[in-house]
Amino acid sequence: MHRPMKRSLHILPLIVLAMLLAGCGSPPSSSSTPTGVAVAPTTEPSPTAHPTTPPTSTPAPSPTSEPSPTPAGLSDDDLQRIGANELGWVPVLEYHLIESPDADYSRSPAKVRQDLERLYALGFYPITFRDLASGHIDVPAGKSPVVLTFDDSSDGQFRYLPDGSVDPTSAWGIMQAFHAEHPDWPVVATFFPLIEVDVPSRVLFGQPEYAQRKLQEIVRAGGEVGSHTYTHMRLDLATADQIQWQLAYSAKAIEDLIGGGYKVTTLSLPLGMYPEDESLLRSGESEGVSYSFIGAAEVAGGASPSPFSTNFDPYHIRRIQALDAELDYWLGLFEERPDLKFISDGDPTVVTVPVEEGLPEELQGILRTDLPDSLTLRRYTP
Ligand SMILES: [Zn+2]
Repeated sequence: MHRPMKRSLHILPLIVLAMLLAGCGSPPSSSSTPTGVAVAPTTEPSPTAHPTTPPTSTPAPSPTSEPSPTPAGLSDDDLQRIGANELGWVPVLEYHLIESPDADYSRSPAKVRQDLERLYALGFYPITFRDLASGHIDVPAGKSPVVLTFDDSSDGQFRYLPDGSVDPTSAWGIMQAFHAEHPDWPVVATFFPLIEVDVPSRVLFGQPEYAQRKLQEIVRAGGEVGSHTYTHMRLDLATADQIQWQLAYSAKAIEDLIGGGYKVTTLSLPLGMYPEDESLLRSGESEGVSYSFIGAAEVAGGASPSPFSTNFDPYHIRRIQALDAELDYWLGLFEERPDLKFISDGDPTVVTVPVEEGLPEELQGILRTDLPDSLTLRRYTP
């Protein structure tokens, strides 16, 4: 049963290394050791990039089952049958270019389609990054949340054809077609677009005349648009003023285009590089424009811990790069070990978790004891 864990220790550092050496960010030369091996300059996630790390100091919460409400009318038998476990891991997939051939930062349309098929077959259901960050997990009972994220707003992510229809080979077109065939899979994803960069095809999906319409369509479908800064600036190299300007004005540009009071509340850090003062990610102000973010995305790390886990940090949400090696590993693991997945009770206001002795070893002792008052905890014996 523990074989997959070991496998990850071999594979994931290579993936992290490959990511640092490739595409979406050439690593800074200063991040290379004297031997020339690039290492992640950020302190988190841990190099093993695995959410099993047990908390070092938090004592296990009381394993006793409390008087339980019955979310959505579910009995303990129902919960057992669906394997409800809202302390399980949540995959957050990270896409960049959507184009052939497949490469480190390119996923072909055929593979995107295949990813959706695999996720659907495994019982996943798409939610926004914002909902994961805030712990508002609203998916049907028995389903598992997954977050699809798209960085850098390249045209392959969302393209209109000359006749005004959505390009069926763009990610948006693929998701729409998938929804048409699987109505219980909504067209929900989180996009982290760029506002101003040298490559025109990566400015708000590359078709300026359609930029506003695309952003509005994403939101109307139930999806999310977050910030990826204004110019893809590396925040580890920026001043506090620059950081606040990048975050405030990227959010404002998106909010102005979407309209209707839309608020940008999450961030994907370019190249996963964090500023020294991470409080700047939470809120700030520049030239009269303020911003506040409830969550931020890393570029690597593996599956995310549940938002109800002590291992969850909303400003360091781990992601799984949409590459064969990473997806095969993580989706293979969830297939082999469904007990490690977040499985919903169907009620976003109730956090349902098996009693401690009913949890897999990897998930024991990590339930948060500081859940907000808006959430009710339910424990049951599986
Ligand atoms: Zn990027």
